[in-house]
Amino acid sequence: MSKIVIVGAGQAASQCALSLRQMNHEGPIVILGDESHLPYDRPPLSKAVLKSQLEIERTVFRPAAVYEEQNVELRTDCSVTGLDQVAKSLTLADGSQMHYDTLIVATGARARSLPLPEAVLAHSYLVRSWDESLALKAKLENGAKDKPLVVIGGGFIGLEVAASARLMGWPVIIVEADTRLMGRAVHPRISELCLEKHRAEGARVELKTMNQDIEASDDGVALTINGERIEAAGLVIGIGALVNTDFLKGSSIYSERGLVTDAAQRTSDPDIYAIGDVAICEDRYLASGVRLESVQNAIYGAKICAAAITGGAEPRLEAPWFWTDQYDYSLQMVGLYSPDLQWIERDNGEGSVTLIGVDGDQIKAGQVINAAQDFAVMRRAVDMQLPVDAASLSDTSQKLKALILKK
Ligand SMILES: Cc1cc2nc3c(=O)[nH]c(=O)nc-3n(C[C@H](O)[C@H](O)[C@H](O)COP(=O)(O)OP(=O)(O)OC[C@H]3O[C@@H](n4cnc5c(N)ncnc54)[C@H](O)[C@@H]3O)c2cc1C
Repeated sequence: MSKIVIVGAGQAASQCALSLRQMNHEGPIVILGDESHLPYDRPPLSKAVLKSQLEIERTVFRPAAVYEEQNVELRTDCSVTGLDQVAKSLTLADGSQMHYDTLIVATGARARSLPLPEAVLAHSYLVRSWDESLALKAKLENGAKDKPLVVIGGGFIGLEVAASARLMGWPVIIVEADTRLMGRAVHPRISELCLEKHRAEGARVELKTMNQDIEASDDGVALTINGERIEAAGLVIGIGALVNTDFLKGSSIYSERGLVTDAAQRTSDPDIYAIGDVAICEDRYLASGVRLESVQNAIYGAKICAAAITGGAEPRLEAPWFWTDQYDYSLQMVGLYSPDLQWIERDNGEGSVTLIGVDGDQIKAGQVINAAQDFAVMRRAVDMQLPVDAASLSDTSQKLKALILKK
């Protein structure tokens, strides 16, 4: 019977293994993951894990018993270090080999760090894994709050951590090189509203700024921000992620940018698939050629991959979507931001806004702050490619639902 090996034990791996069983794959399924934990949910790492007493058991997708019942062999603390495509064999960190008939790469990404001296790194925090988040949590809970926490990077994770730290009473400075927050992913209006929010909540936000001259100081770090020397309690480095593909070096599918796949998540090697954060799908509705980092992409790609391997039913067409929580702002987005779309803004009052990205008579993207119903309607319109009358969408006397789903 055909043996499927999944490398990486995160969101995409867990979903794919269980989907393969649901789609009646009868052969062995093995998941090899280098962390000590069962596959767990990462979004809480920059939110609830920092602010509350969340146990890891509450963030794992499924208890060990489910993998056993499904006859999925899940090995933790097991790092894969090499691939031999001809022999169809993986090398594990203990030197042993494992054969596969079909290989699924689901190794995700790791947080990008900065080339800083060891003494500075000792006061620096990355937030990608449970263990990294716990280290930051210990600092936030036990550190003296007489010096600020400096967050380098005004992207989603940096801003979520900044919000969590402020809510825990920390003075916070956010340093962003770009002219606006979350600049690559959101509409400028959303950047502006989030900037106002973070400042109103007491964070100092410095845009168009590179931190300089970072060095260790008494119990923390010292750095220069806009010419001012700052003594900080610690640094959170939130400057993006690097894919985990080192173990594929020397193979035909290796890339340090991400593993390119077709619409079925298959790489150029017909026996190897890639899913989740590590993959770049060349043929994906509204996101072809883009490496996405989101829960939706991990789950959707895993289901597509399982369907391709088993011949099972593909999930229905879905545009990419994402959410982030910062203070009491719930930001949700569907499709990808592009300045080339015609953007229509609906001010819903009380800090709630809806932005609709239209191309002709189709909604291609949507972004909301605290407007969950509008988000649900836009998702439906984008997924189902519903025709809309763009000129009518700014009419706030009517609900968006009534304007879009009127037929
Ligand atoms: C702090 C944080 C907050 C987030 N918040 C949101 C959010 O609000 N909304 C949203 O949609 N998404 C969010 N995301 C993104 C989302 O969690 C990821 O897109 C998702 O986890 C990707 O799943 P994955 O399975 O591809 O990768 P991962 O979950 O990263 O799993 C990959 C696993 O493979 C392991 N691995 C790597 N190399 C090897 C190897 N050689 N051998 C064995 N194992 C290996 C890794 O250690 C890891 O355990 C967040 C992510 C983070 C880090």
